[in-house]
Amino acid sequence: MNNLFSDTTIKKLATAKRIGVLTGAGISAESGIPTFRGQDGLWQQLKPEELASVDGFMKNPRLVWQWYEYRREIIQHVKPNTGHFILADMEKCYPVFSLSTQNVDGLHFRAGSKNVLELHGNILVNRCHTCNKYIADVHFQNGSTPPRCDCGGLIRPGVVWFGETLPEEVLERSFTLACEADVYLSIGTSAQVYPAAMLPREAQQHGAYIIEINPERTPLSTAVDEFIPGKSGEVLPVLWNLVKPFVKV
Ligand code: NAD
Ligand code: ZN
Repeated sequence: MNNLFSDTTIKKLATAKRIGVLTGAGISAESGIPTFRGQDGLWQQLKPEELASVDGFMKNPRLVWQWYEYRREIIQHVKPNTGHFILADMEKCYPVFSLSTQNVDGLHFRAGSKNVLELHGNILVNRCHTCNKYIADVHFQNGSTPPRCDCGGLIRPGVVWFGETLPEEVLERSFTLACEADVYLSIGTSAQVYPAAMLPREAQQHGAYIIEINPERTPLSTAVDEFIPGKSGEVLPVLWNLVKPFVKV
């Protein structure tokens, strides 16, 4: 017995065979990466549409590169937190466990998760905006001209910008796995950025039990089976501690 989670949540997680998870910027907040919309969010300091859109890049590629180099610098100096590690441990205990993330920081992989679907790409990767080729080891020096590909196109970070479509295969797999899940967790996401925000809703329509973990309520909160208020790095270890002994590997 506990006061934090319902018995149904424990039972559902203990007996599930297929788990789906959606994570957002909130799961990385405890690693020291600012979220976009929470307190201290990057929204408050910068205009994301100028920095994370094709229009913004075309208008001022140098500024966009500066911003991404700043974010890369943060990401390279932080570490995965307890929330990332618990999800990596959970993956080992279920026959099917799939993790779709809106984060571009690669921290789930660094924590040991294997089956990660990066819906919005990865910030440490570069590709050509014109011919789409992936390009390794490009570095932008502050004050220098943005790098170019052999084809003449501008090189850009391998992330999905506002107004761009998500990688089709990653999105399709995320939806398929959401539809097949017995339990679906929505963790650290404001559930406002589509189509990612559709995943827990789609899972629910196909019969999954939905759990949301977030210190604040979101547009999804009223619809979920259990909303657990709190930080993912604090909630997940307590929840998993209660559930893990009952999961048959
Ligand atoms: P968001 O900034 O819109 O929302 C973050 C959510 O996390 C909020 O609901 C907030 O209440 C919650 N949160 C804050 N601290 C938390 C904690 N310790 N534990 C659990 N939840 C916590 O982020 P989003 O929903 O991911 O969508 C915004 C877009 O921003 C995405 O497209 C994403 O690619 C991008 N983004 C990525 C990163 C990253 O890679 N780390 C960082 C910022 C933004
Ligand atoms: Zn090119």
